[in-house]
Amino acid sequence: MIPFFDLKKQYISLKYEIDNAIQNTLNSGLFILGNQLKEFEKEFSFYLNKKFCIGVGNGTDAIELALRALEIQEGDEIITVPNTAIPTITAILEAGAKPVFIDIGEDYLINPNKIEQAITEKTKAILPVHLYGQSCDMDKIIKIAEDNNLKIIEDCAQAHNSIYKNSKVPIGDIGCFSFYPTKNLGAFGDAGAIVTNNENIAKKLKLLRNYGQENKYSALLKGRNSRLDEIQASILRIKLKYLKYFTEKRRQIAEKYNQQLKNFIKTPIENPWNKSCYHLYIIRTNKRNELKDYLTTQQIGTEIHYPIPLHLQEAYKFLNYQKGDFPISEKFSQEILSLPIYPELKDEEINEIIKKIKLFHEEIV
Ligand SMILES: *Cc1c(COP(=O)(O)O)cnc(C)c1O
Repeated sequence: MIPFFDLKKQYISLKYEIDNAIQNTLNSGLFILGNQLKEFEKEFSFYLNKKFCIGVGNGTDAIELALRALEIQEGDEIITVPNTAIPTITAILEAGAKPVFIDIGEDYLINPNKIEQAITEKTKAILPVHLYGQSCDMDKIIKIAEDNNLKIIEDCAQAHNSIYKNSKVPIGDIGCFSFYPTKNLGAFGDAGAIVTNNENIAKKLKLLRNYGQENKYSALLKGRNSRLDEIQASILRIKLKYLKYFTEKRRQIAEKYNQQLKNFIKTPIENPWNKSCYHLYIIRTNKRNELKDYLTTQQIGTEIHYPIPLHLQEAYKFLNYQKGDFPISEKFSQEILSLPIYPELKDEEINEIIKKIKLFHEEIV
């Protein structure tokens, strides 16, 4: 059995250090907004070469609070894609704004050439998602944002260590991360963070995550409660030390899949500006469901990210989109399949997955 992912393996490989970190945090008697978080925020912003990092409760809150810090108001429009995780939209709606979708390109990411036609008087921001670990075409997006006086908020929940040109994402003013357990940098519970170079935004976010309080007795902003706790911060500090190594492992696995599978099936497009962190490895075929079923019978776990484009979700009917509005997102949602990719995946397992995909291909042609 090769599962789609196996979180226990990573815990076991770091067990000694992580158990120690948790124990030390318990002994400190400080559980919220303490030293572990402060240190993690320093280390993570240094890692990404940003000035500020603000730890929050999860990735969805990171996006919502970022929108609030940018003073996005009720009714403002935020341009994003239908091919993303549901929480991208949850966050926009929670901030009171309206998601406006545009279609993706062959690389599964926001198509910058379609942004301008979606801009209205109400548009306030563009929300590119560095999906699967692939970085979006940021130069074009930044140019459009500047020309139209829009903000940029990057959803980096799948992009810890993704590189655009020579920099780690986010490239723009503000980037939002999730440390959900399955992400490339994963906590053992919920956690998230926002990074920015803008001091004013950083200050606001520190208030917003903590009831809007400046100190115990004075509230300056209409805030929330969304904090990254000390135990999670201490775990993330350990895992951050290994992120570079884990990312290399993911890239090696992807390279092997690319080489071995490219003649059989559509492997991911690698844009020249992009060095993916390979949160997910996506192949594409019009026999997707058959292949998924076949791999299941062969004890190989796969997933679909994502089977229903967000404009067709039951919950978002009120946005009045229809089938056919975003043909590429709709077509790809029927054809994409995510293969196992995680640092602990063994060579024999990778070979087995490749072998079975080749066998499937031979049987159907
Ligand atoms: C995981 C994820 C989020 C949300 O993160 P949570 O920590 O689960 O709230 C947002 N956007 C994308 C693209 C994600 O993959």
